[in-house]
Parts: sequence; C-alpha cells; structure tokens
Amino acid sequence: MLDCAIIGGGPAGLTAGLYTTRGGMANVVMFEKGMPGGQITQSSEIENYPGVTGDITGMDLMMPWPEQCQKFGLVHDMSEVKRVSQKDDGTFVIAKENGDMVEAHSVIVGTGSTPRRAGFKGEDDFFGRGVSTCATCDGFFYKGKDVAVIGGGDTAVEEALYLAKICSKVYLVHRRDTFRASPATIERLERTENIELVLNSSPDEVVGDNMGVTGLDVVNSDGTKRHLDVPGVFVFVGNDVNNQVLMQEDGAFLCDMNDAGEVIVDISMNTSIKGLYATGDMRIAAPKQVVSAAGDGAVAALQAIAFVDEKLN
Ligand code: FAD
Ligand code: NAP
Repeated sequence: MLDCAIIGGGPAGLTAGLYTTRGGMANVVMFEKGMPGGQITQSSEIENYPGVTGDITGMDLMMPWPEQCQKFGLVHDMSEVKRVSQKDDGTFVIAKENGDMVEAHSVIVGTGSTPRRAGFKGEDDFFGRGVSTCATCDGFFYKGKDVAVIGGGDTAVEEALYLAKICSKVYLVHRRDTFRASPATIERLERTENIELVLNSSPDEVVGDNMGVTGLDVVNSDGTKRHLDVPGVFVFVGNDVNNQVLMQEDGAFLCDMNDAGEVIVDISMNTSIKGLYATGDMRIAAPKQVVSAAGDGAVAALQAIAFVDEKLN
C-alpha cells in the first residue's frame, strides 16, 4: 500500500513528489503517462518563474525537477491512470490503463489540462500535418515561411512572438479586437513588425492537399472573407481540464466539481473527500501558472503527510 499516489507529473505533481518524499513519506509513486514536466515543456519561453532571469524554455526549466524528486525517493511509474476510486474503508484504488490496481492511503491529483481545438473546418483532418498546438515543437518546420496563429490569450500572443522570430510573417487571428493576454505581452506584440493582427476574425476553414496545409480562410465579424496563404496554422484557444481520472464507472465524479469540470478545493487543496487533493490547472480558480501549480503541490503534500500520519498512528 502506497502512502501517497501522485497522478500527473507536471509542476504540481513533481512538487508534491518533492515535498512528500522529503517530508518523510517512504512510499510515494508518481504516475505520469509521458515524460515528466507537464505542459510548460511545450512553451518556448518562461519569464515569470521566480529567480529565473535567463532566456530559457519551459523544457529547460522543468528538466531538473524529476531528478531532484528522485533523490529523495520518489518513484516514477510511467503509466496512464484510468481511474481513482475509494473503497468503503477509505483506501484509494488507482486503476492503471493496463488493468493493474494500486492501493494508497492518500492521493494527490495534478493531471492539468489539454489544448482545446477551435472547431473550424479541416482542423482535425490537418492536425499534425500543418495544424499544431505547439510552436516549440513545430515552429521550426515553418522557418522563413508565413504562419497563422489563432487566439487572443497569453498562449497565443506569446507563441506568436516566438514564431515571429522563426517565420517570415505571423498572422494573429483573433475573434475580438481586445486581447486577454497580459499588458506586457501585448506591448511586445505591438513592437513586433512581422506580426499582422487579423482582428474580429475567426478561422472558417483550413485548406490543403496531400502534402499538408496550403492556406486558411478567415471570416470577419462583418461577413467579409479573407484567404491567408500559410502552410502552418497554430491553434491556442485555451485548455480542457483533465478530470477523467476522477470519473467513476457510473459517470459520477469521486469528489465535488464545478460546472466547468474543475475540482472544488479549499485553500489547502482538500477536495470533498478526505485524503484526496487536487492541484494545479485542474482545480477551481487556478491561476494556471507554473509557480502556483508548484505551490499547490507543496500545500497538498503537507496535508497528505499529516493525514496519513494521523491515519496510521
Ligand atoms: P500540467 O503541466 O498540465 O501537467 C499535468 C501532467 O499530468 C502532464 O504531464 C500529463 O501528461 C499528466 N497526466 C494527465 N493525465 C494523466 C493520467 N491519466 N495518467 C498519468 N498522467 C497524466 N505558466 C507560467 O507560469 N508561465 C508561462 O510562461 C507559461 N507559459 C505557458 C505556455 C504554454 C504554451 C502553455 C500551454 C502553458 C503555459 N503556462 C505558463 C501555464 C503552465 O504550463 C501551467 O499552468 C502548468 O503547467 C500547470 O501545471 P500542472 O502540474 O497543473 O499540469
Ligand atoms: P485563454 O486565456 O482561455 O485564451 C483563449 C483565447 O482563444 C481567447 O482569446 C479566446 O477568445 C480564443 N478562443 C477560444 N475559443 C476559440 C475558438 N473556438 N475560435 C477562436 N478563438 C477562440 O487560454 P490561454 O491563452 O491558453 O491561457 C490559459 C491560461 O494559462 C490563462 O490563464 C493564461 O493567463 C495562462 N498562461 C499564462 C502565461 C503567462 O503567464 N506568461 C502564458 C500562457 C498561458 P476570447 O478572448 O474572445 O474569449
């Protein structure tokens, strides 16, 4: 029986792993279906993690985190978790995708969120063949070429700035004429000459052939249409909460959630179920930042240590 099972190895899960193991828990496993680090590893830059002053990518930031945790005894099980449920005696059961079951006294969930699709014609057909949600991964393929970026939040604007350094021109297509992105980022956007703002416009259809994307048709709110001659379209229109592991066989969630599918927690990351904690992007009112996700992981870990201590002694 594990003292603590951590589901997800992003900034929240990794920090929970550091604090549980370093705080004396002997038997902690972090279940991460891929490489630890989380969604920030897709970001071309991170400027707002305290103490980090250099020009670094999200991958650079996250690289040392797993090693630091493993030093204190955290075990990384590279598995996808299908479901977290609870037995009548309070023991949690972690069902892995391969059918294996693992029991734990406490569970910290930090499964984050997933990039959303915008829903225009051809988006799914051309996904991975010219349509992307990761500029760091795919930007290089469009070196010296024109690309379109969809969205008006921090991610869209930051990634448009990143792409503007690689590509000859970036069309930033946003459905309104004001941005959600932070003022400092918008200032940089305004200073960047090879970004053309295509405002009050939504993507209608991405077009192409067997080789991939050849263009994007956008439609303005006044009804006028425009064709953008681009081989690459980057979609940054927000994220969906990865809450599936908390859904039970009958379709109900293990703990209380809000209408947006975010886990309801108190300021100590306690869910409505004792011994179950939710952290990072998946919890209510999450600032959706690396630093806050890491903070959540630390808070949840301290709670889990106290909970298991009381349960066993
Ligand atoms: P995630 O980072 O999403 O990690 C969740 C992890 O759980 C993933 O590794 C995933 O593989 C794993 N997982 C999910 N489901 C399962 C399962 N069923 N079984 C096993 N493992 C599972 N924030 C900043 O502070 N500054 C920035 O500059 C910044 N830039 C960003 C740029 C981009 C392009 C993006 C997308 C986000 C950016 N953010 C930034 C936001 C930041 O990345 C997130 O707020 C943060 O990563 C959330 O951490 P998390 O641990 O909650 O979740
Ligand atoms: P977001 O803030 O939700 O912005 C999504 C953008 O996409 C919005 O501009 C939205 O338009 C647009 N959009 C949504 N659906 C669309 C559709 N179907 N078609 C066209 N456009 C659509 O998402 P995000 O930018 O990914 O950011 C997520 C969170 O992470 C935010 O809290 C953000 O602050 C944080 N983050 C922070 C940083 C940083 O601090 N440096 C970097 C990246 C992300 P409307 O504006 O009209 O709704």
